[in-house]
Amino acid sequence: MFFSNRNTLCLVLLLVFQNCASMAFAAPASLFEMGIAVKDVTPPVNYRMSGYFHERLSTGTDNPLQAKALVLRQGQETIALVFCDLVGISPDVSQQARKQIEKELGIPAQQVMIAATHSHTGPLYFGALRKQFHDQAVAKHGNDPYEKFDYPQFLVGQIVHAVKAAQQNLQPTTVRHGTGSETRLSFNRRFHMTVGPVRFNPGYQNPNVVRVAGPIDPEIGMLMFHPENDTKWQHPTVGLSVFALHLDTVGGTQYAADYPFHLENKLRQKLGKDFVSLFGAGTCGDINHVDTTSKERRKADQIGSMLGDSILAAEPKLQPVKNLRLESASSIVKVPVQKYDQKQIDQAKIDILRVGDRAVPFLERVETYKIMALQLRDSDSIELETQVFRLSDDIAIVGLPGEIFVDLGLAIKAASPFKTTLVVELCNDAPGYLPTRKAFVEGSYETVNSRIASGGAEVLIKESIRLLKSLKSSHP
Ligand SMILES: [Zn+2]
Repeated sequence: MFFSNRNTLCLVLLLVFQNCASMAFAAPASLFEMGIAVKDVTPPVNYRMSGYFHERLSTGTDNPLQAKALVLRQGQETIALVFCDLVGISPDVSQQARKQIEKELGIPAQQVMIAATHSHTGPLYFGALRKQFHDQAVAKHGNDPYEKFDYPQFLVGQIVHAVKAAQQNLQPTTVRHGTGSETRLSFNRRFHMTVGPVRFNPGYQNPNVVRVAGPIDPEIGMLMFHPENDTKWQHPTVGLSVFALHLDTVGGTQYAADYPFHLENKLRQKLGKDFVSLFGAGTCGDINHVDTTSKERRKADQIGSMLGDSILAAEPKLQPVKNLRLESASSIVKVPVQKYDQKQIDQAKIDILRVGDRAVPFLERVETYKIMALQLRDSDSIELETQVFRLSDDIAIVGLPGEIFVDLGLAIKAASPFKTTLVVELCNDAPGYLPTRKAFVEGSYETVNSRIASGGAEVLIKESIRLLKSLKSSHP
């Protein structure tokens, strides 16, 4: 007898891929190669910008937006990790780019991870807000004067070009790994209050704050790639660092890659002008740079510089990897979305006309936007993909979609059988916030903005841990 219980979270495991270069052979691992390439993805001026709930047009470029592709190859196994200076990766762009990379470059789509750094000073090129502003412009002008350029197609092309160029310059590489620590820059932004529910960013020395509602993650996950002949580990050419701190430190109407741009400049002062710094957003759904005990807000250049100091302090202590062995696994879990009835949906269709109106209370605009975002997906469930890349017995990289609460990233790292586990959020899709069950009980901005039902994020995290363990145990 089968009873369906709507309150029970249903998990459907759709696809599981596992590949490894040398699983079938006991022979020592073969040559390990790395290629890197960087392509510009800055849109034209006067395109809409992302990051906030009102319409904002770009007026120039402070520093370029880039797609940085890292390709790793060992034997038959190739993976590509692409880091883009964007608020998110739309599922359409990611699917199209990954398909094209598989077809043209022979790298299986599930071994391609396309991550967004979460810059809030890039283009608004997808989603319910973009659709609303676009539809309004078309109704008013007959066309959209701010989208004369097909940015999504351009972005797909640049991502594919970046991976192709990286694949063409593959060179034998060695790797060092480890972690740094940075405790000065990141703050959990959710607080328990004397009155009412949990609040995010309650303001400078708010007297009603009782205590902070969650932790931060001070760990900086680090990988450094060296040319094979750099036997003294003095000249890394590429570094990947992952840190859990929201990118929203610039504002304004100039395109900017936010603090990772300044981080790269800082690292180049020490490691050379050609050093490429890849930055992965850690699980920072509830973490930002706002210190509620201070009136001062750190700027992007200060944050990049300070994070760079912490990376450079940790760099000499990184451990060389002895046996590189590239493997990957991925899977998709299907989790339920939040439910709204027809009356609420009809109301949201009216309210969305005022989504950019700052006179309407903020959380009401956010909820309207979220209901409309759910209509775009038009499904009772949402597919969440997890990718795990194993570089050696000691190193794994996990790629997850959405903006993930810090507790969840900490849980993956605590359970991971690898010494260094880098957990990167906002990969391949942008399904909004993925809060913890605890946060859904507490409420506030992130849960109002989230699309998944409570419990979905924990399912994804459990699956990531399962994949990490399976990749570890394939070579005990
Ligand atoms: Zn965010």
